[in-house]
Amino acid sequence: MPRVTTLSDTESARCHIEGALCLLPDGSGHRAERCDVLVVHGCIAEVNPAGHGAAPSPGDRVIDATDCLLVPGFVNAHSHSPDNLIAGTAPALPLEQWSLACAAARGAPSAREIYVSALLGCIEMLRSGTTTVLDHVRFADHLDADGLDAVANAYRDAGMRAVIAPVVADRPLADTLPLDAEDMAGLPSCQASSAPQMPADEQVARVADFVRRWHGTEGRILGAIGPSGPQRCTDALLMRCGAFSQAHGLLLHTHVLETRAQREMGRRLHGGSTIRHLDERGLLGRRTHLVHSVWVDDEDLDRIARKGAAVVHNPVSNARLGSGVAPVPAMLRRGIRVALGTDSACCNDSNHMLETAKWAALLHNTRSHDSSDWIGPQTALRLATRDGADALGLGTVTGAISVGLAADLSLFKLQAPGLVPLHDPVQQLVLSHARAAADLVMVAGCIVVRDGACTRIREAALWAEAQAFADQRRSVARTAPAIPAHPLFAPLAHMHRRIHALPSLTP
Ligand SMILES: [Zn+2]
Repeated sequence: MPRVTTLSDTESARCHIEGALCLLPDGSGHRAERCDVLVVHGCIAEVNPAGHGAAPSPGDRVIDATDCLLVPGFVNAHSHSPDNLIAGTAPALPLEQWSLACAAARGAPSAREIYVSALLGCIEMLRSGTTTVLDHVRFADHLDADGLDAVANAYRDAGMRAVIAPVVADRPLADTLPLDAEDMAGLPSCQASSAPQMPADEQVARVADFVRRWHGTEGRILGAIGPSGPQRCTDALLMRCGAFSQAHGLLLHTHVLETRAQREMGRRLHGGSTIRHLDERGLLGRRTHLVHSVWVDDEDLDRIARKGAAVVHNPVSNARLGSGVAPVPAMLRRGIRVALGTDSACCNDSNHMLETAKWAALLHNTRSHDSSDWIGPQTALRLATRDGADALGLGTVTGAISVGLAADLSLFKLQAPGLVPLHDPVQQLVLSHARAAADLVMVAGCIVVRDGACTRIREAALWAEAQAFADQRRSVARTAPAIPAHPLFAPLAHMHRRIHALPSLTP
């Protein structure tokens, strides 16, 4: 266990992390080296060979880390914090039907429930070494300012670095799905329609108001805009999102081509490729995040590469929902920027980035017998750290143990299953230690996890409150109709079978 010595209760301006086995950036991967790391005012000021660091002065914090692996904080580039409270409720279903189940389970949470749900994610992420998250915040049917404030308050209180991208969408559910008359089996179309959405202008105005109030808070909370998906937004809303992103220099974070049904819907809506549709409207650029990108073709990949957009790969979620396998090796060969995300706790079912990195490292081996196509632990760790930071526009802020970057760092005990005997720290961290818990985590030099527990969250009380909310929802749900009673449930099952019976298409 790292021994922390400090002469005061307040955060020290200078912190010496002594003798840790550090994972330092090395070409396209990482190398392990014993180092002394000096943190000054939250930033990494020096990285020296162990024993050659600056001598501590009175008042400095000293962390004896000789028994620890020092790892850059992980970057989770896609999550949905309001779903943490309903983790474990979703059945094994394809995305389109799963969405109906989750929408029913989400209900209309209070601002307090949203806050508690976000903190549940903070606890899980911080304890497992994730220091930065992009939260694609999705509410039931409208953008609620109190709900967005609750999410931002949670990250501020937990001490985590977060980019918050409120979800916007303005097309009725049934109009976003490639349903045919034969899928509907006589169901009147009016039964499948949902309530009108909030007008596009008002949604973007609410995001703008949130960004105005929160962007830059404590140097850790940033705003972005998150159109749910091109098939769920009118072109008018997509263009407003693009203009907003451009005007404010903020990320535009959107799900895209997650399932084969979405590719089919793009063909019907846009007359061809959804990626081409976005490109022709000036919506592909370095600030664009294309979350999932499972059903992309070579032309799509060339466009993405040309415009410098980033893909967020969510391997666990894609497997859980049977969405397919994103062609990540082909993306990397083209130089496409790729980050990793956990996605919702309802389709993963965790917020653990090492686990996601392990899936990313191994999943693509199932698609190719050519091992040069495999991703492996070195690349997976890079995607989970500095490439994730780059995708979030934070490449000069976090993602590596490098002088000048923020001290977003995690210490993992070396005397732990999976790391003994130690041969290859990167391989063993990613492949052998995938459910590991960090002992100590800092964000911008502030200790947010100590002895494996969050320092800023009363974990036991928070868990008790979360369980009480869940128990209350379960008692209400007993009287609610079962999920298959939703009018679209059976049509979607038929649609899924019909679309997957079409001639083979990659992936
Ligand atoms: Zn998602």
